[in-house]
Amino acid sequence: MKSYNSSIVTKQGLKQLIENILAHKYRLLAPKKSGEQLSFETILRAEEVVLNQLLRTMTTLSPKEVFFPRTEPVLRYTGQEMHDVEPPTPETVLFGIRPCDARGLELLDKVFTWDYNDKFYLKRREATTIVTFACSDQASVDEHCFCLGVGGDPTASSGSDLLLSTNGDDAFLLEVITEKGERLLNSCKEGVELQASDKRAADQLEAIKDRFVRKQDLTEVRHKMPEYFDSDQLVQETYRCLGCGICAMSCPTCHCFDIVDEPKAGTLGEGARVKNWDACSFALFTKHAGGHNPRELQCQRCRQRYFHKLAYYPQKFSEESLCVGCGRCSRSCPVGLDIYQAVTHVLGKGRA
Ligand code: SF4
Ligand code: SF4
Repeated sequence: MKSYNSSIVTKQGLKQLIENILAHKYRLLAPKKSGEQLSFETILRAEEVVLNQLLRTMTTLSPKEVFFPRTEPVLRYTGQEMHDVEPPTPETVLFGIRPCDARGLELLDKVFTWDYNDKFYLKRREATTIVTFACSDQASVDEHCFCLGVGGDPTASSGSDLLLSTNGDDAFLLEVITEKGERLLNSCKEGVELQASDKRAADQLEAIKDRFVRKQDLTEVRHKMPEYFDSDQLVQETYRCLGCGICAMSCPTCHCFDIVDEPKAGTLGEGARVKNWDACSFALFTKHAGGHNPRELQCQRCRQRYFHKLAYYPQKFSEESLCVGCGRCSRSCPVGLDIYQAVTHVLGKGRA
């Protein structure tokens, strides 16, 4: 990945950049306060971007729904006639995602271009410029984060167009990563003081690494996992699963969906074919029309999710796992289940 240049920008300069993005009529999406949590929302005024908080708190849900909405029509029908649906694709700036989320989008790209080019996802990707905040602040990393164990890095630029990292109390390092990022910066930098710098966010990695309590390397577990497929330890680690699905909903890389036809109420033969998020944690996900469910137990569904992340995706697409170590699933799980802990416990104990 080519890195073009880097500059220092003050907090005030960054606010000006955000104002310019809005003034240039981009749709701006950024983490916004929603009670005690942060969620990606449309920003109308620069003050809505909570710079200090977004460095310290990860959004509860990932930004995947900017590209892959939880529900959307993919076709409309009237009687025998089918009508294509074009996804709305305004020029968008997605601001303040984490490096793990940016990397997650690159993993999703492989899925949505694998046997079929999903125009809904791809057009939104094309229309979106990604401004990432590196986890360069000491408070950015918590006890759930484990990107280092799955081939990530808290200051990585992969998947980003522009990369921001802290540079002292009142300033940021701004790195241009792609031509798309350069175009955005060039079109929105009027009035923004940029001081050239030869620093890199990665320069600060060593100090941030010490913040991680989860450092075990999971990049090779795909070779060992098949041996544990029906082990008692894995059942013990996963039997508490309730099947609520919040792990998959909050995950930046879970991408299962279902397609259903939804007739329009009060009409005859009119309706839409709709793509909805689904999850392997749900009992109905694999239930056959005849009533048989090959994943009869909840712990088997949980196992499927772990295997898809750490064994099946790496086997199918690349050596990389489908987990980017963001920790959202373990932060959100109502019964404290945790993919990192489950896999490290099971593999650490040996086969029983
Ligand atoms: S692992 Fe936790 S979050 Fe995921 S479905 Fe089971 S109970 Fe819900
Ligand atoms: S499986 Fe959990 S830790 Fe891994 S990317 Fe998904 S939400 Fe993040």
